[in-house]
Parts: sequence; structure tokens; C-alpha cells
Amino acid sequence: MLDIESLRVDTPGTDKKIHFNNAGASLPPQPVLNTVLSYLRDEAVIGGYELAAARHEQVLDVYKSIGNLVGADPLHISRAENATRAWDMAFYSIDFKRGDRILTTTTEYCANYVAYLHMKKIKGVTISLIDDDKDGQLDLGSLEKLMQTDLGSNKTVVSINHIPTNSGLVNPAEEVGKITKENGALYLLDACQSLGQMPVDVTKTQCDFLSATGRKFLRGPRGTGFLYVNPEIIQDLHPPVIDAWAASYDNETYSPYPDRRRFETFEFNYANFLGLGKAVDYAANLDVGVTWKRISQLADYLRNELEKIDGVKVRDLGKQKCGIVTFDYDNHDNFELRDKLIANDMNVSVTTEMNAYVDMSKRGIKSLVRASVHYYNTKEEVDRFCEFLKNI
Ligand SMILES: *Cc1c(COP(=O)(O)O)cnc(C)c1O
Repeated sequence: MLDIESLRVDTPGTDKKIHFNNAGASLPPQPVLNTVLSYLRDEAVIGGYELAAARHEQVLDVYKSIGNLVGADPLHISRAENATRAWDMAFYSIDFKRGDRILTTTTEYCANYVAYLHMKKIKGVTISLIDDDKDGQLDLGSLEKLMQTDLGSNKTVVSINHIPTNSGLVNPAEEVGKITKENGALYLLDACQSLGQMPVDVTKTQCDFLSATGRKFLRGPRGTGFLYVNPEIIQDLHPPVIDAWAASYDNETYSPYPDRRRFETFEFNYANFLGLGKAVDYAANLDVGVTWKRISQLADYLRNELEKIDGVKVRDLGKQKCGIVTFDYDNHDNFELRDKLIANDMNVSVTTEMNAYVDMSKRGIKSLVRASVHYYNTKEEVDRFCEFLKNI
């Protein structure tokens, strides 16, 4: 059982705001805040290199924590400054050839889609969209059918989001992994919105790459992220940029390391990285399976209550839904509505066509209000939020 009252006491901010922008950035818990602040204070007094040497074991523990959370060997977890860069290091490490194919979702995240277009331009790869099923998440039958295309010597990379940024759906990442492996394709999973929100395990999803950010449902500091890479394929991956942290070298040649360092750089924000480790431990201690149940229930409750308001339309897709709730409200401009809510201590965001163009343009939607709940939110907050909307 979760003790919500004490979890809220542990979350400065919950007594001041209704924070429904957890898909943007969650409120970090006090232990994360303490870790970051105390590290910065020590750094100022002890010296950056000297403190880093003294805390070496703690830094290694962060990789262990992340590895435990996602079921991976910590040697194959690379730190990154955000999910986009983590994802980029994976995507641009793949040896794409003319005629190779990227299979992706209609709900793909903007940054990833731009990278597909870029790879199409520079390498001549093709981009194919996996159809949606009747509920809106990616259709496994369509994926299987696409896999039957004979590409000759060309390869397929299945690159999908687990949870899109702009709708409530959850893609069937494990089933996709099964189909992808059966067909010998590479599998890149953008778990940015799912990490910390629901259980994610790289052995169950069988993904070759998994990217995530710290600040969203994991409740870590901003400017943190990580990448998991399947050790079995690491030798075939060449990062788009490489430095002397990622490779050994001599006068004539260099040799990229066969572990996490291959995708990292020497310098990073130690305070934030340790804060990320604390956030991962915090999530694991609560049990992500348990907090996921609460998030789903709260989001369902929010959807239900929103539907009762005259003029509000919930626009979420998907059979299995998550903590992200999107809606619009007759005659209300979404940006003005967001600003009004924030001015009244209710944090929400607006998701726009530019965040997931294929999906939003297909549905003819320019923007939606996005209210994303975490386990530390309450039904009482949902009630107050809906009451405010009703009377606006
Ligand atoms: C937020 C988000 C990203 C990017 O994460 P950053 O940490 O901002 O780089 C990638 N994919 C999805 C689905 C996201 O929601």
C-alpha cells in the first residue's frame, strides 16, 4: 500500500500546486533534491575532480540502479544529458545503407521523426508507418505483414515509442519485441514516457536499444537521461561522434570501448546524475508495478470526470491507457486555457501538432491540453481541477 500522504509530504510543491504536468517534468522528491544540492555544495568546497574521485562508487551505483530498474547489465547503461541525445547515439550508431527500412508508429515523437527524415536524406533509407489498430495503438498484424516484405540484403529497424507524448495510449512493446526478433530486425524503443510510469524491462521487450529521460515520470533532475544498448550488437555500432572517453587510441588508430563508454563523453553533471540515481531508487523502492496501478486509476478517474463536463472532449487513444490525459474544451483556446490553469496553480501543458505531426495531422488536431498525473496526485485534486474547468 502506498502512503500517499507521506509521499506528498516528501514532495515539496504538492501543497502549493496541482501538478498535472508529469509528462513534461514531474516534481522531484525531497531525497533527489537533497542529493543534488548537497553534491553541489560539496563540489564548491572540495573541488570537482577531488569530490568525483571520492564519490566514484556512488557514481557506479547509479548505473547499477538503472540496470536493476530495466533488467540490464549496468555495463550497458550509458548516461546522457536527455532522452533525445540518448536516442540519437543509438539511432546514428546504426550502419544505415541505401534501401534500409525504418518501421515506426504514426504517433512517433517529433525529434525521432526528424531524424528518420534526415537519415532518408543522407543515406536513402525508407520510412514505413505501421498501421494503427482500431483502438489507436500500433497494429501487430500490420507489423507482421510489413516484416514479410523481401528487402534482399537490406535491413529493417523497428523504431517505436512505448508511450507517445501526445495521447494516452501504450504501445505493445513486448509483442513488438517478439515479432522483431523472430524477423531478425533491430529494435529501438523510445521509453521516455514509460520509464518510471510503468514497469519496463529490456529482457521482456527484447529491445536492442532503450532511451529514457530523468525528469518525466522518473522524477529525476532535468538534463539527465540514459541509453541501454544490447551487448550482443555493440561491436557493430559506431557512434556518430566519439571522443577519448569512448575509445582508446594511439598514433594510428582508435578502438571504441565495447561497453557503456562507447556512447558517453568524459564530462557530465555529477550532481544531477547522482540525483537521477536517487530518483531511480525511489521509484524502485515504491515498486513501479504498484505506482503504475495508481497512476492508471487516477488517469481513468480524470478522464471520467472530464467527460462529465459539458463541452470537454477527451481525445486519448489506445486500449490500454496511461497517466497522460489529453482533451479540448469547446470555444476555449488551449493555450489560454493552460495559462489560466497555471495562473490558478494547476499545471498542465499543451501538446501541439509539432510534437507528433503524423498523428495530429491525421486526426486534424492542432493542439490539445495535456494533463498528466503521477501517483502523488489525488482524486481530490482531480475534483478541484474539474470543478475549476466547469466554472471557467
Ligand atoms: C519527451 C520525449 C522525448 C524527448 O525527451 P528529452 O529528454 O526531452 O530529450 C522523446 N520521446 C518521447 C515520447 C517524449 O515524450
